[in-house]
Amino acid sequence: MSNTVYAILGDIHANWDALEAVLSDAERHNVGQFVCVGDVVGYNAEPVRCLEKIRELGCLTVKGNHDHYCANPDISLSDFHPMAASVVSWTREQLSDEQQDFLRNLPYVERFAGVTMVHSTLDMPEKWGYVFDTLEADAHFSYQSTPACVYGHTHVPVLFERRETVVRAPFKQVKVALGKRYFINVGSVGQPRDLDPRAAYTLYDSKTRTFELQRVEYDIARAQACIREAGLPDRLAQRLALGK
Ligand code: ZN
Repeated sequence: MSNTVYAILGDIHANWDALEAVLSDAERHNVGQFVCVGDVVGYNAEPVRCLEKIRELGCLTVKGNHDHYCANPDISLSDFHPMAASVVSWTREQLSDEQQDFLRNLPYVERFAGVTMVHSTLDMPEKWGYVFDTLEADAHFSYQSTPACVYGHTHVPVLFERRETVVRAPFKQVKVALGKRYFINVGSVGQPRDLDPRAAYTLYDSKTRTFELQRVEYDIARAQACIREAGLPDRLAQRLALGK
């Protein structure tokens, strides 16, 4: 039986507890295929487990900036915030050469069911620009040729809709209408930053052409304990409980 429901995961960031909770929630929604808008690793303490799960699921994945830096040990981290740099170095040590190869070879842009996916923006995806406002979304839209495109990177679920102008709206649910373009941030599985600490991901039903944001409770205390046990900065554990 072919299934038309896709689960779009993004910014998992090595948070196994959040990923596990999202996957069991997706099972309840009868998901047939998983896709990922990037940043499987970085920030949290279980990169190998998360990466191997994504591969086992046959999850179509695009490259995120953390995937890029964690898979390229030769790139200097001197421009990085010290906290981010320490996690990237730690993650590089956890990943095998083969796992780094896998991340390094991820594409910047992919398509599934007529939907484009990118980590940051189609406006120079390898530069990792952030799309928070309508001006940035407008620059992105000049490159978007499918009705809908999904992304991550900011960890804040949001919907940009282009009609005559670009309109920004909170993202909960949207049905793709003819003649419009949509750029949708699917939320972050492993490090939400919209002040809601629950894991976020998005369902897409290709039959009804509807995207719907999901929020899932998970064992934040366990994810925090893993971060502390790994000796990663405590701020990374604290922020999970705050959703920022
Ligand atoms: Zn991220």
